[in-house]
Order: sequence, then structure tokens, then C-alpha cells
Amino acid sequence: MDTNTFQGFPSIVYTSCDFATFDENNYFANFHYYEVFDETKEYSKKTFKHDYGYGNRNYQFCLYEFRNILDNAIKKYVVVNEILTGEERWKLKDYCGCKYCLSDDNKKMFMDQGNYSCLLDTDIELDSFDQKVIDDTRERMKLGLLSVVKKEVKKEVNLENDHWSILSLMGICIVVSAYFLIKTI
Ligand SMILES: [Zn+2]
Repeated sequence: MDTNTFQGFPSIVYTSCDFATFDENNYFANFHYYEVFDETKEYSKKTFKHDYGYGNRNYQFCLYEFRNILDNAIKKYVVVNEILTGEERWKLKDYCGCKYCLSDDNKKMFMDQGNYSCLLDTDIELDSFDQKVIDDTRERMKLGLLSVVKKEVKKEVNLENDHWSILSLMGICIVVSAYFLIKTI
């Protein structure tokens, strides 16, 4: 095997599993494309544009190496990881469909946003977002479903507006009572 080709992948995921129950279709269900690693094939090490049925997107190949827990046999697969552009992330973030954004506040207290591939987390690199989160978020953007975080910001603005209307209402009351007070005197 050409170890240079193997090592040259931008990212490699090592994991172990039981080959007897391992289901590749299920495991890679959220990826836009995967195939059994072919050592005779040249896999691009750079970001490339391709339409795998999800529109023309930026991708990078990633190697997955599975080790059988029973006999250490190895299976390798190549998958595509979508690489977002800064502009795409900026557009998507307000509709983020990650588990963190979709959870209610009580649960959020025990959750770390960064662990859920949240598009609002600026510490996550553009090549490290979970494909399912990206796809779910695109779907939410199409439907115009803003993320909870964004809704909360809107709610605060509304509360501020409510605050001012209450204040102006109180002002009117004071003026009216003062008018009647003066009149009765
Ligand atoms: Zn999120």
C-alpha cells in the first residue's frame, strides 16, 4: 500500500467497532458521499467543488479507518466532508439547527455549544462542521426557521419596546391625573 497517499489525507478518523454488526450505510448516512478506500486511486488532498446531489459544494476527502474489536482487522472508507465558506457560515448561523440551539434553556445549562457543531460557535473551524447540522440548517433557512438564540435576541428587542410603551402609558396617566388634580383645586 502507498502509505504516502494514505497519510496525505487532510484528516483521518480512527475508530473501532464490531464488524459483525457494523453497517456502513447507517454509519455514513449523514455524509454526502462515501466509498470503500481504493488504494489504487488518487484522492485529491485539496478542497474541491462537486455536486453529490446536494448542490455544488466545497468538499475535502477524509479517511475513516475502522478496527474490528475481535481480531484487529481493518476496513477503510473515504468520505467527503463539506467545507463551508465564511460567507455561507455567516448566512446559515441565524438558522442553526444543532442540538444545542434546538434544546430548551434548562437543558442548555448542561450542554457545551462547541460539542454540537453549532454554527454560532466561532471557535469551530469552517472545515469541522457536522454535515447533518449543515444540512438541517440549510433546510431551516429555506423554511425561514430562525434559531432559538436569534429568536431570544428578537424577544429582548420586543421587551425593550414594551418597556417604552409602558413608560409612555404611565406618563400619560400622570399628565391626566395632574390635570384633574389642578381642575379640582
Ligand atoms: Zn447551534
